[in-house]
Amino acid sequence: MESVKIHDKTFVPYLKHAELQEVIKELALKVYEDYKDEVPVFVGVLNGVIMFFSDFLKHYPGECEIAFLQVSSYTGTQSTGIVYKKMDLTKDVEGRHIILMEDIVDTGNTLESLFEYFKNTQRPKSLKVASLLMKPEVFKNRFPIDYVAKEIPNKFVLGYGLDYDELGRNLPDLYQLEEGRINH
Ligand code: 5GP
Repeated sequence: MESVKIHDKTFVPYLKHAELQEVIKELALKVYEDYKDEVPVFVGVLNGVIMFFSDFLKHYPGECEIAFLQVSSYTGTQSTGIVYKKMDLTKDVEGRHIILMEDIVDTGNTLESLFEYFKNTQRPKSLKVASLLMKPEVFKNRFPIDYVAKEIPNKFVLGYGLDYDELGRNLPDLYQLEEGRINH
């Protein structure tokens, strides 16, 4: 794996596609243990979740349904608060067992407001969260993140669905911003 340059930023190799598959498979089986007697609805939070969502589903051995939702909270590499581009769900999930699927939990602000949205509008039978990545150093909310595939340091990451200025989502591996940390 070689470094990737987007605009003025350099991203160095961090986790290979195969390493990601291992932690995602482990996560899918863990979720299955809790939901094997149910038909949960996995709700993917677009756009960053696309690759994780698709690979998670391939590893999930049980019955399930899917839906999507779109939010956006980053401009470049700085979290600028949540901008709801589209709050509409792609299907009605009222009264169902819902698992919100996120690419990454950073401050947790996005998830916190999604929680509120779901509780108020969908009255789910149960509501949990699964995230591919989580930055425990930055996470400032007190609600539990039920399933996390991998905890990472507080560095901006790119690839495998995650973008920098809308670029880099198509990279199959995960990269880290080379220089320093990003303050939120
Ligand atoms: P939070 O609301 O938890 O601070 O941020 C969540 C959202 O910010 C994620 O769904 C993701 O879209 C974006 N985000 C957070 N950290 C990173 C990162 O390191 N890299 C990229 N590309 N996006 C991030």
